[in-house]
Amino acid sequence: MRPDAFHSNPSVIIVGGGLAGMSAAIGLHQKGFRVRLLESRRRLGGRVGSFEDSSSGKNLDYCQHVGMACCTNLDWFLQELNIATRWRRERVLHFFSSTGKHLPVNASILPAPLHLSGLLRRWPGITHADRIQIAWGLWKLMRLKATPSLDEQLAIEWLRGIGQREEVITRFWSTILVSALGDQIDRVTLGATRKVLIDGFAANREAYNLLVPEQPLSEIIGELGGQSLESRGIQIDYGVTIDHCTWTDGCCQSVVSREGKQFTADHFVFAVPWHRISRLIEEHCDVDSVSKLQSAPITGVHTWWDRSWLEPPHAILVDRLCQWVFKEPIDNKTLHRSQLNLDPVDHNEHYYQIVISGSRNLPKGDSNQVLEMVAADLAAVFPSAAKAKLLRGRVVTDPNSVFSVSPGHQKSRLAADHFASNNLWLAGDWTDTQWPATMEGAIRSGLIAANRLGESTISAPSLVVSGLPKGWLSRWLIA
Ligand SMILES: Cc1cc2nc3c(=O)[nH]c(=O)nc-3n(C[C@H](O)[C@H](O)[C@H](O)COP(=O)(O)OP(=O)(O)OC[C@H]3O[C@@H](n4cnc5c(N)ncnc54)[C@H](O)[C@@H]3O)c2cc1C
Repeated sequence: MRPDAFHSNPSVIIVGGGLAGMSAAIGLHQKGFRVRLLESRRRLGGRVGSFEDSSSGKNLDYCQHVGMACCTNLDWFLQELNIATRWRRERVLHFFSSTGKHLPVNASILPAPLHLSGLLRRWPGITHADRIQIAWGLWKLMRLKATPSLDEQLAIEWLRGIGQREEVITRFWSTILVSALGDQIDRVTLGATRKVLIDGFAANREAYNLLVPEQPLSEIIGELGGQSLESRGIQIDYGVTIDHCTWTDGCCQSVVSREGKQFTADHFVFAVPWHRISRLIEEHCDVDSVSKLQSAPITGVHTWWDRSWLEPPHAILVDRLCQWVFKEPIDNKTLHRSQLNLDPVDHNEHYYQIVISGSRNLPKGDSNQVLEMVAADLAAVFPSAAKAKLLRGRVVTDPNSVFSVSPGHQKSRLAADHFASNNLWLAGDWTDTQWPATMEGAIRSGLIAANRLGESTISAPSLVVSGLPKGWLSRWLIA
């Protein structure tokens, strides 16, 4: 495109530089818009970020993030930013029973959805009759058609209705669903349950593969991602918190920062979380339904021990307080205090991060108590953790980690072009993507916003990457 042609192209301001804002920026830039991204923090990435641990000098993610191979737009995003090689794929899921039995599981030679049947055959703490009951539940789930009524129904009521015992719900369904959906089993809908089990496990043999970052997220998404956007000509303003908009005839004319700086453009995309959007646009837009979206907390417990106690790269704990355990990102292991000219006290520290989703019942404001609970829980599962000494720990809970996929949430999610007549478009994991709050959902939302805005102005083909194809047997079995 000639530079003068570029300058005559419409301009767009994107407010919010999380994954939704970043993918909207890439998409709109590809469609020929002049893009300016305003982000209140000093780095891009939003919830996908890290903090610096002052004792070790290492960047640690607020909370471990993992994707799955079914997240096709996440894959696209990582390729676009040229950071895909900094994520590894894990094909083996390492389950541990509540008493410490290790159950590594990967796909057998059977076609999807039978490829993971070994997992059900070996699932700990349940009887043979329970396994048949779960298989029956999975079959019923696959035969359910995805209709809006599923989003009004609690999964737990449906599970009870089809005869799943309480122990089976706690030991099997809860283990899978709580970490996948980010909230407690008695809050999530049947629609979200169907989505995650079909897309993540049943539809395609590879779908369950984990994508795990090998470097702190602030470095790969925040720094490298930011550089990649800027190298394409996308302008990024850091440290700009938008406070309000100015309006003419009900249309957004500009956004104004807390410091009073005004930013004008032809179009505006708001890519801020659900609990932030109302304040910014409620003057001219009816955002009542969004305020009904509830938040769910996720807790990352960062722990340092005097010895190593976990062999595989992660552990998924069945029916325990601690749901996932992750070892230190590979790259961080090489970064020692000595390299940072700090005292080399941490050479023998071994870092593990524990993730507790839907952590509503954890004691609030008492990190020591949480650390004690976590240490006791791990000691019950891993004999070597029982012998290890917990040197220090840090508990990070974000009460607005994800929106809760509770009944009614789907009605509160607005389409990207819901306020197009006000000259503003919406992006963010909470907008109507049909995905739960995930990196994939956020990236899809940004691309959908870019598509809708592109259609209404420049027009160009859809950017959203379709999901993994269903395997031949899955095509037959899934309604
Ligand atoms: C603890 C935790 C664990 C998670 N684990 C996973 C996981 O394992 N896998 C997974 O797929 N997903 C996970 N998620 C969810 C995932 O992080 C989010 O769904 C996704 O990052 C949301 O992206 P977003 O761009 O929609 O929103 P955000 O990341 O919240 O980005 C919004 C951006 O807008 C900026 N902003 C807000 N207000 C303003 C303003 N007024 N002016 C300017 N800028 C503003 C913010 O600073 C932020 O950068 C987790 C989330 C949390 C918190």
